[in-house]
Order: sequence, then C-alpha cells, then structure tokens
Amino acid sequence: MNGYSFLSVVRQALNGHKGWPVVWRSPEPKKNYDVVIVGAGGHGLATAYYLAKNHFIKNIAVLEKGWLGGGNTGRNTQITRSNYFWPQSAAFFDHSLKLYEHLGQELNFNVMLSQRGMLTLAHSLHELEGMRRWANAIKINDIDAEVLTPIEVKKLVPLIDLNCRFPIRGGFIQHRGGISRHDAVAWGYARAASAYGVDIIQQCEVTAFNISSGRVTGVHTTRGTIGADKISIAVAGHTSELARMADFRVPVTSMALQAMVSEPIKPCLNTVVMSPIIHMYASQSDRGELVFGGGADLYNSYAQRGGIPLLQENIAALLELFPAFSRLRLMRQWAGIVDITPDTSPLMGLTPVQNLYISGGWGTGGYKAIPAGGETMAYTIANDQPHPLIEDFGLERFESGALIDEGAASGVAH
Ligand SMILES: Cc1cc2nc3c(=O)[nH]c(=O)nc-3n(C[C@H](O)[C@H](O)[C@H](O)COP(=O)(O)OP(=O)(O)OC[C@H]3O[C@@H](n4cnc5c(N)ncnc54)[C@H](O)[C@@H]3O)c2cc1C
Repeated sequence: MNGYSFLSVVRQALNGHKGWPVVWRSPEPKKNYDVVIVGAGGHGLATAYYLAKNHFIKNIAVLEKGWLGGGNTGRNTQITRSNYFWPQSAAFFDHSLKLYEHLGQELNFNVMLSQRGMLTLAHSLHELEGMRRWANAIKINDIDAEVLTPIEVKKLVPLIDLNCRFPIRGGFIQHRGGISRHDAVAWGYARAASAYGVDIIQQCEVTAFNISSGRVTGVHTTRGTIGADKISIAVAGHTSELARMADFRVPVTSMALQAMVSEPIKPCLNTVVMSPIIHMYASQSDRGELVFGGGADLYNSYAQRGGIPLLQENIAALLELFPAFSRLRLMRQWAGIVDITPDTSPLMGLTPVQNLYISGGWGTGGYKAIPAGGETMAYTIANDQPHPLIEDFGLERFESGALIDEGAASGVAH
C-alpha cells in the first residue's frame, strides 16, 4: 500500500494529481474463498481487514450489492462515543473508541476524529437524577463522564435556549466523544483490506446460501455462485432477510432512520448535543453544515428515505433548542434502514448454521462500533468462538433472557 504523506501530496499536486494509485482493486470474483463477508459497510470491511492483518487469512471476499460504504456507514451522523450503561457495552464500545483514537495512523487515512464532547441534556430534575446514575455507572466502568449545571451547559453551547418549552436542568458530557468522517472510515478500511489482498466485489448481491448438513458452503450471487469455508453476514438493515435465506430468524425490526443537514454556516456549535426528551441530536460538520436527526420512523420499512412527519418533528425539535437556527435552509435529507433488537444491543457471533456468522442489530448506533466490531468478529470467525468482548451479544440471549438493555444509551427513542 502506498502511504499518504505530506511529501506525496506535494508531489502529486505538482504533477496535476495524475499519479495517484488506485485506492482499492476491483477484481472479478473467484470460485472459492476461505472467508466471504456479505456487506461492504464499515463492519464488513473492518472484519476483512482484521482477518487479514491479525489472523493472516488472505483469501477473503467482501460482497456488496451496491457500492462500498453506500449503506448506513455512509448515511449516519458520525457520532463516536462510549457512554454506555452496562459493563459489557461499556467495555466493547470504549475499546472501539480507543481504536478510533489511533485509526488514522493505523490505516494511514485521515478519519477526521474530532473529540469535541458528547453532551446529553436533562429537562427535569428526575431526568438529571437518572443521568447522574448513568454518569456514575460510566465512571465506574473507567470511562470519562461529567455532570453539568445549566450554566455550564450554556457556556459550552452559547446558542442553546435554556428556557425552552422543557427547560434545561443540566446534563452530562463525555469529553472523549465526538464525531469522525464516516466515508473515510469505510474508504480507509477498504484501502487497507485491499492492500492485504482482500477482494472487494461491488454490484454483487447475495441471493441465497448453499447449506449442506447444517454447514454453509457458499453463496449464490448476481455474479454467480461462490464457494466459501466460512461466511459472515454484515448487512445492517437487511439482517433478517439474510437470516431468512439461511433458514433462521433474528429478533429485529427494520425501520428508516433519517438525518438531515442545513446550509453551511460559520462555526457555532462546538460539541455534539443530544436531547432524549426533546428528541433530537445535532453537531456541526467541518464544512459548517448542521447535521441533525432524531428517532426512527415508527413503522417497518425498507425505503431509504423516511417520511415527512418525522422530518418536520426533527426540525421542530432542533428549533426548540436552538431558535437562532430558524433562518437556516435545510439542504439535504436522507435515511438508512436500521435493524433494531428488543434490547437495542447488537447481535454478534455464531448462528445456528455452522460456519455462518453474524454482525447485525446495530440499530442506530453501530458506526461508533466499527473498529471493535471488525476486530472481534475477525477473531470470532478465525477461531469459531466468540471473542471475549462479545460473548454476551450472541443470539442465545433472546432464549436465556440475559438481555443488555441499552435503550437509554441509544439517546433517542425507536
Ligand atoms: C441516519 C442514520 C444516522 C446514524 N447515526 C449514527 C451515529 O451517529 N453513530 C453511530 O454510531 N451509528 C449511527 N447510525 C448507525 C450506523 O450507521 C450503523 O449501525 C452502521 O453503519 C452499520 O454498519 P454496517 O457495516 O453493519 O452496515 P452498512 O453500512 O449498512 O453496510 C451493509 C452493506 O450490506 C449491503 N447488503 C445488504 N444486503 C446485501 C446482500 N444481499 N448482498 C450483498 N450486500 C448486501 C448493503 O448494500 C450495505 O452496503 C446511524 C444510522 C443512520 C441510518
């Protein structure tokens, strides 16, 4: 892999940018692979990268029905944080944040991590008490969290209206939380995986699995049949579809989650703000746009656009907290399909089919989990047993009842 450096940028600038090498290869699919990963989102690409890097498996294909990073990985609002309540989630998501803190160097690709803080607002004394408990749990799990008074909130976010319809009583902040650039994460992993010899095959939809004596042996795709010793599913909103093809069921519902951006303005919002009660979250991108969203559309759908009523609700919620933004024009709106589990924690690990693995149920919060999700799924696939960090996130928890309820940590209701 040719490294990006200051000198290479200068050299290419003088050259009219004509000499940049291809960032990832676009090979034809082979007949057989050691591992096939379905879905070239962040999770699929990161899994391929860590399989090649940490477990020395090089004969890998990532199959993508559209274009890489065109699913939720390229549609999300980029929030990167680890302020989860339960110890299992805290350990997993903080490991992910720590990997993010060095991801730019690891991939030699700037993922533009900006640890500008993640502020969650409380609108009643009761809610503030709940947040105090949440912040204490986070701190016990060795993750940074600080409870703030309304004055401290105002100092941090000068444009916020403390006396909005549900007046702000305080909040808590994870200073290490923030945002990063979602396309860069997908592209960085794709480039690094391709350099290890991973075949990333776009425009290649998986339509069925070959299963013989309870063991998966390959996939049917729109570009022919491909054999594989091991297969992993990483398709976000389509997890239940792929599970159905392999003849088992997963407890997920698929809904559209919307996001939107305003026209760009000068820097005025220097932290990520979330309000579970007013039901919105917002940050400002490096280009100056306000990036915001709220809850999911409350009906099942595979349409990646979302409905007008929720769009209106999200805008109304933003203006409730930030009346000054009412003069801005909305520039773009879109949606992605999220697969939500009953406890809003992910599904990771083995499946009832031998040698078939799953990484899904990421709901509204799987972007921040991409590095740790990829690393732990690579271990799980290579060793045919769950990585210790994800042991509790398997499908079995829906039979045993050992749920990891992170509904509150998702931030907004769905
Ligand atoms: C609007 C929005 C905002 C969000 N905000 C945040 C946030 O701020 N922070 C956060 O942590 N998370 C956020 N999320 C969630 C996060 O984006 C996802 O959890 C994460 O990107 C999932 O990654 P993935 O790689 O599993 O899935 P994806 O990136 O969706 O990749 C799955 C890929 O599988 C492909 N695929 C599907 N079916 C097939 C098939 N049959 N054959 C081949 N390929 C197939 C799809 O085309 C897709 O490219 C948000 C999501 C949305 C929609």
